[in-house]
Amino acid sequence: MKDFPKIGPTVTMFVPYDCKNACPFCVNKKEYRDTSSFDLQRCYRSLDLLDRVFPHNDVVLTGGEPLADLDALQDILDHISDGHHVYINTTLPVDENQTIEEVAAILNKYKDKIDCMNVSRHLDHYVKECSDEIFDLLEFPHRINCVVFESASKPETRDRLIAVLDRFKGHEVQLRANYSYLTLDNVFDTENDHLYQLISDICEYKYDLEKERFRTGFVFEREGSKITYHKTLPFAKIDGVVGDIIIRQTGRIYDDWNEYGHELNTNDLVDLQYK
Ligand code: SF4
Repeated sequence: MKDFPKIGPTVTMFVPYDCKNACPFCVNKKEYRDTSSFDLQRCYRSLDLLDRVFPHNDVVLTGGEPLADLDALQDILDHISDGHHVYINTTLPVDENQTIEEVAAILNKYKDKIDCMNVSRHLDHYVKECSDEIFDLLEFPHRINCVVFESASKPETRDRLIAVLDRFKGHEVQLRANYSYLTLDNVFDTENDHLYQLISDICEYKYDLEKERFRTGFVFEREGSKITYHKTLPFAKIDGVVGDIIIRQTGRIYDDWNEYGHELNTNDLVDLQYK
């Protein structure tokens, strides 16, 4: 376990190789249609630059699908210095030429480096899911990431949500609101949040997570399992304060996610406020 606090904004890197999934809600897929400008070496130069400015911040690998190319993923993990907390967002693909044991063995080589792997498992199966047995093979923290796209006021959503929580009993589950519905006005609201009310109804509320400018969260418990509920705006930069720094697949550095972001220059790295 790394015993240093996070200092500075999170650096999120979109891995520069294609995602083989086709989730219907995907906001990133269009960036992966044309990979001709992707450049892993330039991503490394950006990682190195940001490592000098923020030697102890969080680094998130996302995509796309970080596990779509396990050789490239290992190269990236080797490149990230030990001063960072490292998180991976994945659908945990295991293709027909691999076994769950082989994939777990590769990932376990990095058990001291990966602080948490967030594995998407939604109410509907948008991707080919590997056997749940892989979670018992992983030797580092991981949690199930379940975005509730369905309306929480529909009675069937309750049953389907309970089915997911039962399926992953014993594992931490992070439930996430559909961020495309979130605005600065409702991101911190719980009273009119049907999903918050539903989760409160089927789980036991424990405590609030620390509020940031663009996200908030709540911790619950259900039959001994930790359940968190996260609400995150679809953008991270508010009133000039940068929440996340993004390394795009080209290696270029931006001050916010996807189409919200603008390219950062070196002086921005020095001048901007971060949260
Ligand atoms: S795995 Fe991620 S990047 Fe790939 S299609 Fe699904 S949401 Fe999009």
